[in-house]
Amino acid sequence: MGEFDLIARYFTRPVRRAVLGVGDDCALLAPAPGMQLAVSSDMLVEGRHFFAGTDAYRLGHKALAVNLSDLAACGARPLAFTLALALPTVDEAWLQGFSAGLLALADAHGCELIGGDTTQGPLNICITVFGEVPAGQALLRSGARAGDDLYVSGTLGDARLALEALLGHTTLAPGMLAAARQRLEAPTPRVALGQALRGVASSALDVSDGLLGDLGHILRASGVGACIDTTETIKLIAASAYSESAGGHFDTELLHQCTLAGGDDYELAFTAPVARRAAVAAAAQASATPVTRIGCIEATPGLRLIGAQGQPMPQRYASFDHFA
Ligand code: ADP
Ligand code: MG
Repeated sequence: MGEFDLIARYFTRPVRRAVLGVGDDCALLAPAPGMQLAVSSDMLVEGRHFFAGTDAYRLGHKALAVNLSDLAACGARPLAFTLALALPTVDEAWLQGFSAGLLALADAHGCELIGGDTTQGPLNICITVFGEVPAGQALLRSGARAGDDLYVSGTLGDARLALEALLGHTTLAPGMLAAARQRLEAPTPRVALGQALRGVASSALDVSDGLLGDLGHILRASGVGACIDTTETIKLIAASAYSESAGGHFDTELLHQCTLAGGDDYELAFTAPVARRAAVAAAAQASATPVTRIGCIEATPGLRLIGAQGQPMPQRYASFDHFA
């Protein structure tokens, strides 16, 4: 199978909202009046972002999910995406699974595949996603103010726990490993929550490299500091409840490491004025996405962690950095 047959077979769909999709030199999008385009790219490299041999369907899902997560963080509605793919060989079983996982998530969010590039090379998947947001309403990293509440959506740390288990650093019961692995390999982008938070959240981003490291981006962009209650964050790892029900026991330090600096969660971390608590709860309900208040924004720069007895905790948790 050649390059163009491969594109036609696995990556060409009828165009719906786009003006022009796969097949010409450019795709064409017509932004609606009064809307801004939100654009983001994310690359997944084999051996770096995922293990060789990762299930193709889940990889297709994750490649788009991490991009949709960026749109969610800006409060944008997904429109379309392009796919740049380097493949070592034409493996039809792999392509079938990959495109099925990719396009199922795309369909779930009404996000069309409108173009891309396909080359031979080490497995590498780069997606650029396009969304739309009413002009001036995108959620930014720079809007947090002293006194704001600090929130995170969903659960934190299970993806990292799965990674620790897959690397042989910890052992998980089979059911727990399967659940945590689902979070690592098939994350849920919080697209509906992001849009519901427009006009409510003062700042937002998605947690991809670890809560503390990512939160640092909001704090620097906004010129503020934050205080985090670790008795709240440690409860956000779904596997800890499972562990108790299974009679298991986790090291508290490992749970802090996973929840505070885990990475690959693709949850939203955001801030909102105290006066908007009811609006945050309404956004969570409207998007059927749990949200937890984990701390507050302060005028003094830096991040302060509060422990179980209300005492300050040393900040020794490093988030992921490709070049650190
Ligand atoms: P060009 O030579 O102009 O770069 P290509 O020959 O690479 O175009 O691609 C032909 C068409 O197929 C283009 O419309 C391109 O956007 C699309 N395309 C290529 N690879 C992919 C892919 N992996 N997924 C979706 N569309 C693709
Ligand atoms: Mg090309």
